[in-house]
Amino acid sequence: MALRNDPIIGIDLGTTNSSAAVVMGDGQVKIIPWKGMDTAIPSVFAIDDKGNELIGHDAKRQWQLNPRNTIYGAKRLVGRTFMSDVVSSMSRVVQYPIKPGEQNDVQVEAAGKSFTLQQVSSKLLARLREVASDFLGCPIRRAVVTVPAYFNDRQRQSVKDAGRLIGLEVVRIINEPTAAALAYGIGKGLRESVVVYDLGGGTFDVSIIEIRDRVFEVKATGGDVFLGGIDFDNAMIHHVLDRFRAEKGVDLSGDPVAMQRIKDLSERTKIDLSGRDSVPFSVPFVAMTADFQPLNIDLTFTRGLLEELTRGLVDRTMEIVTRVLRESGVPLGQIAEVMLVGGQTRMPLVQRRLTEYFGMVPSKGVHPDEAVAVGAALYAHSLEDDSNLRLQLLDVIPMAIGLEAANGMFHAVFPRNAAIPNARQLLATTSFDGQTELAMRIYQGDQPAAESNDLLGEFTFSGIRAAPAGQAQVEVTFDVNVEGILTMRARDPETGAHMETTVRVTQS
Ligand code: AMP
Repeated sequence: MALRNDPIIGIDLGTTNSSAAVVMGDGQVKIIPWKGMDTAIPSVFAIDDKGNELIGHDAKRQWQLNPRNTIYGAKRLVGRTFMSDVVSSMSRVVQYPIKPGEQNDVQVEAAGKSFTLQQVSSKLLARLREVASDFLGCPIRRAVVTVPAYFNDRQRQSVKDAGRLIGLEVVRIINEPTAAALAYGIGKGLRESVVVYDLGGGTFDVSIIEIRDRVFEVKATGGDVFLGGIDFDNAMIHHVLDRFRAEKGVDLSGDPVAMQRIKDLSERTKIDLSGRDSVPFSVPFVAMTADFQPLNIDLTFTRGLLEELTRGLVDRTMEIVTRVLRESGVPLGQIAEVMLVGGQTRMPLVQRRLTEYFGMVPSKGVHPDEAVAVGAALYAHSLEDDSNLRLQLLDVIPMAIGLEAANGMFHAVFPRNAAIPNARQLLATTSFDGQTELAMRIYQGDQPAAESNDLLGEFTFSGIRAAPAGQAQVEVTFDVNVEGILTMRARDPETGAHMETTVRVTQS
């Protein structure tokens, strides 16, 4: 297997599993194997009782016994403010402590030590880099990393920061569904529109993508960063807890070890039910009665019951599919393929609903677990100097970006699904005599009230010419790059002088 010098690798940094891939010297994509097996690394970080840091398989192996010091699902917390709904509902289901961070973001704790989410991501990136570097026999300096299409600017920035912490240059961030479409479409000379339905461990994304040979144009995208396989597990966990409470009068939700055992078995049962109609669910000695008699969980899960418990989740994904398809302007009859990405799409209910909706069986053209890393590797290769692979990705922003108007309402500067890269200008004037600074609160989201969206930052432009109110002007440029990351700058349109810009994230 020929190796190349200083390759850029592709990384799929997933909620549950992460993997890396690279284009080899022969032009073939190779998923970096873990200990000789083609498999992903669990996105889990832990500290054991001796103070050792464990990452990936080692961390996952011990999580039943050490649930308070084992961090998983952290991708869901990335770029969130501590007071957000996402953080409070995560706090209820995970056993590790989640604390407010310094920037009104969140930090997680293991063995009494606090970690930012960038640090947690950087540990996973470091492990992937190490495995890749051992496999390829050369140091790895650069990577293309994928993120959910529905990630906002702050969440994207956070992935870049994670790379920076370990000296890994994240040369480009691309969207997971777009990466999957690359894995599917490159080299086939296609001219068609496809749907990528990506239901992973923690997030749901859907994109409508038009492929014109080597041009991949995203027409619309949408999703929910709080909808994924974990929610299917949680629906089962709640059912088990409710039944146990009703039958045995014991609430297991406050017992971390019992919870971890139920959680593990729920996921395994869910996966088994994709291939079987019914699966026994038993957890022996899960609790004790007041007179020290052991209590067991003994149930049978049928596929029908699982579908009943999770139908609402699948409905939510289909509502998003309908909206995104409408916004894409592509008629349903012109969709040539429905691609499945993410482990949770193996569930028969998901496939059935998509088959009914689109009138065709979803494509088996991409491997649901590997497509994202493969697409990232292909894109990474196209960015290398010596590459003859030419690709054009035309993506969109998943949610509007704009500012808070004086009445607290959100004024969109870029609408949802605006093509990127993109720049827009806005002319502001001073509102009082001698004003030398102008502050703007910039948000991303689709809610009419600015505060209901995610605050990207408070931008302050200083050095405005002192003049009577309304006479000094500030030309503000909003620039969203190919990665969906916003930068802002301002200048005096009369003198052309650039103003100093500072950013602060403050919102609760
Ligand atoms: P991913 O983030 O793509 O690795 O997806 C992981 C999610 O897919 C987890 O929630 C898994 O429980 C789920 N998953 C994996 N295999 C299956 C399966 N055969 N049936 C249903 N869900 C699955």
